[in-house]
Amino acid sequence: MKTYKYKIGDQSNCMRIGNLLDDMWQVHAYFHKWQRQRYKDGFGYANYAVMCKQLTALKRTTHRHWNMLPSQAIQEELKRIDVAYQRFFNKLGGRPHIKPRHKFKSFTLKQAGYKLKNNRITLTLRKFENGKWKRNPIAYTFHKHRQWHGTLSRITIKRDSCGDYWLYIITTYTDFKSLPTTGQSVGADNVIQGMDLVYSQTKSGMKEAYLTLSTGEKIQHPQPLKSNLNKLRSLNKALSRKVKGSKGWWRCVRQIARLYRKISNQRKDFHWQLASELCKKFDTIILETLNLDGMKRLWGRKVSDLAFYQFVGILKYKCQKHKRHFEQIGQWTATTKPCSACGFHNENLSLSDRQWTCPKCSAHHDRDINAAINILRAGIAVT
Ligand SMILES: [Zn+2]
Repeated sequence: MKTYKYKIGDQSNCMRIGNLLDDMWQVHAYFHKWQRQRYKDGFGYANYAVMCKQLTALKRTTHRHWNMLPSQAIQEELKRIDVAYQRFFNKLGGRPHIKPRHKFKSFTLKQAGYKLKNNRITLTLRKFENGKWKRNPIAYTFHKHRQWHGTLSRITIKRDSCGDYWLYIITTYTDFKSLPTTGQSVGADNVIQGMDLVYSQTKSGMKEAYLTLSTGEKIQHPQPLKSNLNKLRSLNKALSRKVKGSKGWWRCVRQIARLYRKISNQRKDFHWQLASELCKKFDTIILETLNLDGMKRLWGRKVSDLAFYQFVGILKYKCQKHKRHFEQIGQWTATTKPCSACGFHNENLSLSDRQWTCPKCSAHHDRDINAAINILRAGIAVT
């Protein structure tokens, strides 16, 4: 599966998509409420097929206006509800909740209901004319910055928090070219483990590397949230001065949403570039499993700005794509204290020691590089 994302141009017709999303939300809310009511009345869970039957009955009787909605989008919505409940029953997720209208953001079409041609997508919407529902195809142009490959599996249209519309084309493309092998392996130590220190030493102006590679390279993080924080603060201040719900207030809300989108794009860009670079250089990449306790304790702005989870996800995908070996070693493997040259266990090492000399073999270590080498060793031992 590969997803391509295109921006749909701003045009007055986009309002139709927004209206359609609102109508689709009604389907979403109706079926969730219906399931809950059934449960209260002592009926069992209604699966996808039963929901489809109910839908046909509704379309014929009380909810005739649902005939104007693309039927595949409704089916996909029912499937989503079914998946959410199945996850709930299998104890994989919580009780499915009804989304508020403004959080209902996307709908999916499989084969019917749209046509793709060049940089244009034509959605077959419907309108009511002379007492009948008629087809009303509307064309939307999108910015086609690249060609998609593979067979088209489905499309999704999404509204983001800035009010822009995006077209996602999902294809079954898996024929990736793997990169040439380099014969190199790398272990990487992440910043999160040493986060305690970062907090205590920020005042002294010390900057911690995002990733420290076993080759000795240190990679810095751009920290997009930090660099945009002043702007964000002033915007939030401006927002608080405005009358809630007024024109200026909404304009400000949109500005803030755009800034957040920019920050997240900058972060994502850094992650993709870094993952790509690592995949080009190394055959085997070994990371430490994230220390969830430490992260919970320090779950603050700084950690979320680093978004290490997202990076690991992207790196996993890239490794799979380019047939690289990716390994995460257990979080209880000792990596910081053993000396990478002789294996001496330095119990006296405290968090503030950035550099240390091994008392046994007198090798001089940088704390992070030493840990990265240990991670690499442990990873290779596992495989
Ligand atoms: Zn040593």
